[in-house]
Amino acid sequence: MTAADVAIVGTGPNGLAAGVVLARAGLRVHLHEAADTIGGGLRTAPLFDSGVVHDICSAVHPMAAASPFFRAFDLAARGVELMQPEIGYAHPLDGGRAGLAYRSLAETCARLGADGAAWHRLMSPLLERSEAVVDLILSGQRSVPRDPAAALLLAGRIAAHGSGLGVRAFRGQEAPALLAGVAAHAVGRLPSLASSAVAMLLGHLAHGTGWPVPRGGSGRIAQALAEDITAHGGVFHTGHHVTDLAELGGARAVLLDTSPKGLLALAGDRLPRSYRRALERFRYGPGAAKVDFLVSEPVPWADPEVGRAATVHLGGTYAELVRQETANARGVRTGKPFVLVVDPVVADPGRALPGKRPLWAYAHVPNGDPTDPYELVRAAIERHAPGFGDTIVAHRSVPAAAYEAYNPNYVGGDIGSGAMTLRQSLARPVPRLDPYRTPLPGLFLCSSATPPGPSVHGMSGYLAALSALRHRFGIGDAPDLAPGPMPLAFARPR
Ligand SMILES: Cc1cc2nc3c(=O)[nH]c(=O)nc-3n(C[C@H](O)[C@H](O)[C@H](O)COP(=O)(O)OP(=O)(O)OC[C@H]3O[C@@H](n4cnc5c(N)ncnc54)[C@H](O)[C@@H]3O)c2cc1C
Repeated sequence: MTAADVAIVGTGPNGLAAGVVLARAGLRVHLHEAADTIGGGLRTAPLFDSGVVHDICSAVHPMAAASPFFRAFDLAARGVELMQPEIGYAHPLDGGRAGLAYRSLAETCARLGADGAAWHRLMSPLLERSEAVVDLILSGQRSVPRDPAAALLLAGRIAAHGSGLGVRAFRGQEAPALLAGVAAHAVGRLPSLASSAVAMLLGHLAHGTGWPVPRGGSGRIAQALAEDITAHGGVFHTGHHVTDLAELGGARAVLLDTSPKGLLALAGDRLPRSYRRALERFRYGPGAAKVDFLVSEPVPWADPEVGRAATVHLGGTYAELVRQETANARGVRTGKPFVLVVDPVVADPGRALPGKRPLWAYAHVPNGDPTDPYELVRAAIERHAPGFGDTIVAHRSVPAAAYEAYNPNYVGGDIGSGAMTLRQSLARPVPRLDPYRTPLPGLFLCSSATPPGPSVHGMSGYLAALSALRHRFGIGDAPDLAPGPMPLAFARPR
């Protein structure tokens, strides 16, 4: 094996994003992955029928459509088609009603009736400054905002909705439920400042760059990233669960796409005591318990308009969601948890065969919960889609407790690699000026346990790679990420 300049442990979207940056900087990059296939949270595979593929983890990609890393990487130019549903997300309520977040803000407001004007006042200014809003939240969160007006807009909204006061602007139940469903993506107590930031980011993106699904499944994103790495000389080693840094052949920089628990397992005895202690105090959040279905027909939603949304949030009204998510964050299992459903065929009809469609769903449950989620999830869908049970051809359950065996980053089923509390959304994994750099020279953390946190945006990997370039290789400029050959300035002899 040629000696590597850089070893990356883990090939989730952040490990891959780091690999793209470092390989494009002309460095010899080797990527080590425990599983037999690359991708981490970006894997797509058949589960029941060889002709129907399912997203094993992530399915919907508002962040990949908007993040600064992916804007520069340009997925579309690399053949990854982000398919947009007409309705980004829907939130059914009892009695056949539903909140619907159309791509069109005007249509959303029209459907919200008396609450339309308040929804417009909330979302429209964010949309006008969308790129600055995205860049502010999807950043290392250590620099002065480039657009102070966007920062002010966000701060006011985050405070209002994080305190629970903002929701008083609405009279009906649909708009508050829509907001609570988006805030619940933070998987924690509701309302809270951290979940409110997530609601503002994801909420406005539904009317902007959208909540798309990649044609053919999330694995296409991993494939595009891996192709770029290989084209720039990077080498993959799959089926290699790294258990000791010594296995990495003396690379000058090592980037870990792991949880803090993984960092401790690999380097704990070499880390200064104070840093080790801080990592040991890092808190993991509630778990996800997933059910993949093969169904014979579209979900028979009581409100047929819900069937035009690829993403559907279940769990009832704002008040119900607040109760469930807060109990769940305290480790109390609820009988009617928040459930996220994704029907990729709505946006990507090529994913279905006659009488066979993939359907993706997960419930929020306490960390480490070992319970089979099938009945909970089936009942949650059936509540708003009577007859759903009759369409199920096959299913596969993954309890929260089983996720860590699939991917060691999902500790106790926490798919965010760390609770999204206010403290931990700013100080991930520990309070440091450069959160990607560990005290061990040459060792960096690049996973979603670093800012800006979970989701497929590639920004943790991108920012960790820039830190490694600066501190280990004396390279201050970020390489160009646009498709095409490496610029001469970065081309070094191999
Ligand atoms: C069920 C589920 C649904 C989700 N839905 C969405 C969604 O719709 N949209 C969205 O944006 N996000 C979603 N996410 C979250 C998203 O997948 C993650 O935030 C993202 O994948 C994190 O990227 P990462 O690179 O930090 O780590 P991961 O994607 O977790 O990848 C880490 C990789 O490192 C490997 N690894 C770890 N330790 C070692 C070791 N010691 N040696 C070798 N390899 C190692 C693991 O095997 C894994 O492949 C979902 C996650 C799950 C589980």
